[in-house]
Amino acid sequence: MTRTVIEGCAIAAMDAAGTEYADGHLVIEGDRLLAVGPGPAPEDLVRDTRRIAGAGRLATPGLVNCHHHLYQWATRGLAQEATLFEWLVALYPVWAHVDDETEWAAARAGLAALALSGCSTSTDHHYVFPETAGDLLAVEVAAATSVGVRFHPCRGSMDLGHSDGGLPPDEIVEDRDAVLAACEAAIDRFHDPSPGAMVRVALAPCSPFSVTRGLMSDAADLARRRGVRLHTHLAETLDEEAFCREQFGVRPVEYLDDLGWLGDDVWLAHCVHLNDAEVARFGQTGTGVAHCPGSNARLGAGLAPVAALTAVGAPVGLGVDGAASNEAGELAAEVRQALLVARLRGGPDALSARAALALGTIEGARCLGRADELGSLEPGKLADVALWRIDGLAHAGIADPVAALVLGPPRPVDTLLVGGRPVVTGAELCTASEQEIATDIARASARLAGKAEAAR
Ligand SMILES: [Zn+2]
Repeated sequence: MTRTVIEGCAIAAMDAAGTEYADGHLVIEGDRLLAVGPGPAPEDLVRDTRRIAGAGRLATPGLVNCHHHLYQWATRGLAQEATLFEWLVALYPVWAHVDDETEWAAARAGLAALALSGCSTSTDHHYVFPETAGDLLAVEVAAATSVGVRFHPCRGSMDLGHSDGGLPPDEIVEDRDAVLAACEAAIDRFHDPSPGAMVRVALAPCSPFSVTRGLMSDAADLARRRGVRLHTHLAETLDEEAFCREQFGVRPVEYLDDLGWLGDDVWLAHCVHLNDAEVARFGQTGTGVAHCPGSNARLGAGLAPVAALTAVGAPVGLGVDGAASNEAGELAAEVRQALLVARLRGGPDALSARAALALGTIEGARCLGRADELGSLEPGKLADVALWRIDGLAHAGIADPVAALVLGPPRPVDTLLVGGRPVVTGAELCTASEQEIATDIARASARLAGKAEAAR
């Protein structure tokens, strides 16, 4: 089997011991890391070798994106000053026209942006399935395969339409039985439970204000019966909190807790508005959080209590969220953003550069239940590696490479390997044409806007 050797780079392994090398090596065999250590690679490990330049670079684990809505890449820049609920009400009628063609262009654009920002594993939470749309989940799985990133599509759903007291228009909600059948089919078609899997499925009813209590409960039963994870949006805004009090008589976290939706097989997007008891409950149950600082800022939703959540041991990963509420879908930028907003809330020691990088790597892997094979650079783990240049104008002169990466300005990753396979080299995609993807998404966005306009 061909080996790949990277030497002369700084390494932040992000393992439990906090291992770092100022000058180290990585040896990759197949899709796994064979060796990680200081200095040059040991002679006896170097054979049939492909070499990747390491000098002037920092190696980290590939980043893990825990929350996204890829289709939203086709509706960027709309409802610019809206709250979440206003923004949703403005965008639902546009999303009602999403189809295979939109999905392909948007998923490729979103995944390309992620790969160029060092992200090797991404989730997607897709919850809009118009009747005539086509086979959207299959299309996004194909898009991820074409870009070359590891992918965890979440089969989302909405079954609480406006006429039943929900927020979305009746036209874009589904019937509960149809949702459950589609979830089961998504697991059968795409979920790969085996080690090193490139695709794993989770079930993800959308939110308390767009899903019935019955579907929340049935989705949890189905996920546990089939051994897949659960995901949804929670406690994103005070409007949602008011909705839960009015509809269910409880706060959002109590609502989920009653439904059996807290646990170490669950990760939840946002979790901005939590009280101390709720934070403690996340720690007790091992419930994960996808922190989305860019989107929360864009919508003015508030700031999640990240330091408190990590202090109680809850896994906290990062998400770029959909590109309609965060027009920048680059994950490395969210690592920096997470650090900056944490310090606005808690002062300069609220989140260190290394703790911020942990959110984007090993903590994200914990959220997805894959910390045994992703999220750190250790022998035996998957060879998902990001190599960042730290010798250019943006970073040169900062002696601490992790500070250079996290505190310095985000730049495209120099090299991204996913399972040892190059996806980005020389800060350019090698699996697809960035310009072609940009041209396609511009066309798809205009076409979608035209369809929505014609239907008004
Ligand atoms: Zn979201």
